[in-house]
Amino acid sequence: MTTRIHVPAGTARAVTLREGQTLRIINVEGHQVADFIAYNADDMREALSTMHTAVSIGRLFPTTGDRLRSNRRRPIVEIVRDDTGRHDMIIAMCDPWRYEYDFNVKGHRSCSDNYLEALADWKIERHQLPHPINFFQNMSYPDGRVQFGESLAQPGDTLELRALINLVAAVSACPMDLNPISGFRIHDLALEVV
Ligand SMILES: [Zn+2]
Repeated sequence: MTTRIHVPAGTARAVTLREGQTLRIINVEGHQVADFIAYNADDMREALSTMHTAVSIGRLFPTTGDRLRSNRRRPIVEIVRDDTGRHDMIIAMCDPWRYEYDFNVKGHRSCSDNYLEALADWKIERHQLPHPINFFQNMSYPDGRVQFGESLAQPGDTLELRALINLVAAVSACPMDLNPISGFRIHDLALEVV
């Protein structure tokens, strides 16, 4: 049985996954960044860690076959399908201060606020949000410089993640519309749990 969840542009949804289940993140309209975080459902002090994952996979850009590590270095998620081939693990999730300090905009939606809403049932506080994997985000770091490109995701591009343990995961259709990452506008995503 497949459960399909609509993620309206600029919002997030949380899902629970049993070990062995698959989460599909579908870039319905294309060019939308999807910030992803995940916790061990049985002990939420353990969470997906991009820094531990980079050490393990030996690259900054994860793709098919990569097993993503937790802060306890355990493989907890495996990428089993990647239509787009370009994702980021460096850039911090957007938060109210990103919009205030860098764009002089107050009251903008953010991935950080989205996660607090989506994970309210688990009483997660902001300092307990792990650094996200920014799926579909097209970053480059030539000579150590930070360059924001537009997402390479085409309409319908799909990413599939297999849960290697029981997980609480959340996906944010990043509200950032003030830089090129999602093409200066935001789009819906869809999730499927299989
Ligand atoms: Zn964001």
